[in-house]
Amino acid sequence: MARLRIKDILKTIPTNQTITVKGWVRTFRNNSFIALNDGSTNNNLQIVVDFTNTAEETLKRITTGAAISATGMLIASQGKGQTVEIKATSVEIIGDSDAEKYPLQPKKHSLEFLREIAHLRFRTNTFGAVFRVRNSLAFAVHKFFNEKGFLYMHTPIISANDAEGAGETFHVTNFDLNNIPKDESGAIDYKQDFFGKSVNLTVSGQLEGELAAMAFSDIYTFGPTFRAENSNTVRHLAEFWMIEPEMAFYELKDNMDLAEEMLQYVIKYALDNNLEDIEFLSQRLEEEEKQKPQNERNELSLLDKLKFCLDNKFERVTYTQAIEILRECNHNKKKKFTYLVDKWGVDLQSEHERYLVEKHFKKPVILTDYPKEIKSFYMRQNDDGKTVAAMDILFPGIGEIVGGSQREERLDKLETRMKEMGIPVEELSWYLDTRRFGTCPHAGFGLGFERLILFITGMTNIRDVIPFPRTPKNCEF
Ligand code: ATP
Ligand code: MN
Repeated sequence: MARLRIKDILKTIPTNQTITVKGWVRTFRNNSFIALNDGSTNNNLQIVVDFTNTAEETLKRITTGAAISATGMLIASQGKGQTVEIKATSVEIIGDSDAEKYPLQPKKHSLEFLREIAHLRFRTNTFGAVFRVRNSLAFAVHKFFNEKGFLYMHTPIISANDAEGAGETFHVTNFDLNNIPKDESGAIDYKQDFFGKSVNLTVSGQLEGELAAMAFSDIYTFGPTFRAENSNTVRHLAEFWMIEPEMAFYELKDNMDLAEEMLQYVIKYALDNNLEDIEFLSQRLEEEEKQKPQNERNELSLLDKLKFCLDNKFERVTYTQAIEILRECNHNKKKKFTYLVDKWGVDLQSEHERYLVEKHFKKPVILTDYPKEIKSFYMRQNDDGKTVAAMDILFPGIGEIVGGSQREERLDKLETRMKEMGIPVEELSWYLDTRRFGTCPHAGFGLGFERLILFITGMTNIRDVIPFPRTPKNCEF
């Protein structure tokens, strides 16, 4: 008999039909009631076993974590909290699980502990919800761009450029590390390496994306990104996924409009398609918040926060305005920031970003027109000679979620800036060709997929929204 998914079964009106279901045992009570889960939903299906008619040997093997198949009649349930259940006529053990050794006990485990058993944490309610939401969001991203007529472009994972020279890269080599070829001067001889030069894992698909936008007009990439930044924060991973649209004939405002529309679209998609999971996560967060002192708790529940984002336009502020706000705020005057804001030109720290978003504006903020000194070479220079057409989107609880800009399309300005910043012009000649042959205003941004998931699931550590987190000194599984 065909296997039905528990999510669908729970929505079925019972007409005494006989069905088969397969999944993993969450609990088994009184030798009679199995709570079965197959990952299609956090809700379990109750299987009622007639223990008088079931072999002792089988009953013993219905243990937490075991994979089983159950066949029986779908009937209306008398039990609390469920509308249907299965009155089993047969239960088959597919895979045993030693209850004594099974690491997941029917109690609350810490997220840290679960990270150590990432092969099993998928079976918990919290991670079940998180990864179903993640799946939906990935689909929503593609759906959004597809509906807008964007072309999905696969930019390379192994790359010879490091986008801006800022990100720490992972080298890719097939040298024997115990015997690395050197040239006469004693330097590593990359000519003998696999690609004949020094290459790394991509830190951004942007430069390649710009090439594609100069032919297909509107493109996006959505792929893994690698940064060997040794920052052990709750917002940084060494391997994460990034969404990078790049659009020809777009200026900064069009770029902001697109980013805002996209974020609202995917949030709405998750609310429309994963409400149960988000409600669960919202409740989970409320429980967690109760542990915190009153003044550190979020004012809005997760659900309300997401709805708020849909109903309100993001605040758009220039860097210069933001600096004014920060410099004048009481928090700064009372020296409560670790990094005090004293003059125009300083880079904003995450504490400043969060102050603007969480305390001052109380909504997502798009910051624009940053000083050119603190931004990348490819950002378009504004007429004031001091700032560039950059935009960062800051979200409550997260800080920076999107980084983007209008790109410098004027060859002379771009080359001059590259030289000023010590970026190798020759090596990036292929990139500069876009400015030589039919250049045009264009813009794009990078959205960190895991930061988006953090926001929508209300999780606080980025390690808990990617299936197998890679961070400094940690690469398990
Ligand atoms: P941050 O200042 O937070 O390190 P960034 O300025 O290095 O971010 P960008 O280079 O602009 O970030 O990358 C675009 C987006 O990618 C960021 O807005 C963020 O959402 C995401 N991102 C960047 N670095 C990481 C990381 N190490 N782990 C997860 N997401 C990241
Ligand atoms: Mn960074």
